Amino acid sequence: YVRRDDSVEGLLTGLVEGDRYALARAITLVESSNPQHRVQAQRLLSKILEREATLASQQSTTLANSTPSLSKDEPSADAKEQPLRLGKSFRIGLSGPPGVGKSTFIESFGMYLVSKGHRVSVLAVDPSSARTGGSILGDKTRMTELSRSSEAYEEYVARNTTEAITLCEAAGYDICLVETVGVGQSETMVADIVDMFVLLVPPAGGDELQGMKKGIMELSDLVIVNKSDGALVDSARYAQIEYTSALKFVKAITSFWKARVIRVSSMGGPEGGIDKAWDTMKEYFQIMESSGELQKKRGHQRKIWMWRQVSSELMDLLNEDAQVREMASELEAKVLKNEVMSGAAAHKIVEKFMRGMSS
Ligand code: GDP
Repeated sequence: YVRRDDSVEGLLTGLVEGDRYALARAITLVESSNPQHRVQAQRLLSKILEREATLASQQSTTLANSTPSLSKDEPSADAKEQPLRLGKSFRIGLSGPPGVGKSTFIESFGMYLVSKGHRVSVLAVDPSSARTGGSILGDKTRMTELSRSSEAYEEYVARNTTEAITLCEAAGYDICLVETVGVGQSETMVADIVDMFVLLVPPAGGDELQGMKKGIMELSDLVIVNKSDGALVDSARYAQIEYTSALKFVKAITSFWKARVIRVSSMGGPEGGIDKAWDTMKEYFQIMESSGELQKKRGHQRKIWMWRQVSSELMDLLNEDAQVREMASELEAKVLKNEVMSGAAAHKIVEKFMRGMSS
């Protein structure tokens, strides 16, 4: 017991000191479904919360009159920005169809943020990814300039992404990019944990736009038409117009911000418009922060996640229960053959589980 507590302390110290290995181990811990790991993870997370509360109360006196951390007036192109203060990190979700250039964008954008003096973590959310013994499947590791930067950290996560974000923030990364990998349910999930949801789209309108799920437009605070370079500039412009008009029919998420459409080239270097993308995101952050909307949004997200965690923990418990599992496979077979209604089977499984719990 004591040793386990020590190791939580050790992880916390490592995290705070910016030890990437400690961060990787901590993320593995919060990702684990092992009940013992869950206990350790929860202990680590509460320690982080405690520490942040203490630091925040110290900061509120010393930093009361300091300038805003995301300054809009940059004297020169490569001027450093103040890193965001504790508890004021910026969580940005990035989504888009495969091939749109998410990896390329994240690489340029991440390096740009690092050049501005930020520390950037990138969490790629892949619900299907499996972790083996604390390391992620090797072939997925991106060997890019960004991943080699000492001011950036990249990791694949499959679940408990909000907890992984908290860990990155505790480790001093003030900007967290959360990327959806593959297609599926992860967009909504990511939109529910970030401050701003950014959708990357390819430089063509019409058909693509028709095929785009309306739901994903509704989640987006910013649409970026990527690959706006060379021969693609004209179709990028066209896409920009198409998406701008499409957004007129989408209900705004907040009354404080209207979704915008911009064009960038992730491969276009300094002329590519990456700075414009960041300026727009900063503007969003400032408006949302100063109006109190951001705090409200995060509170609401925490509530959503509490219930998500409840269902996932309950499912874990169900799956660990041998008797329930046995009964479930019998019932599954009957449901397949339509001998039992799904609702009735579900009810039986829950009943069995509850009886097991109380005995
Ligand atoms: P992902 O699947 O969304 O991560 O897309 P990738 O980042 O792997 O990019 C897919 C392809 O698009 C690659 O061949 C990139 O080189 C290319 N690409 C990405 N960004 C740009 C861009 O800004 N302009 C052009 N012309 N090509 C790009």
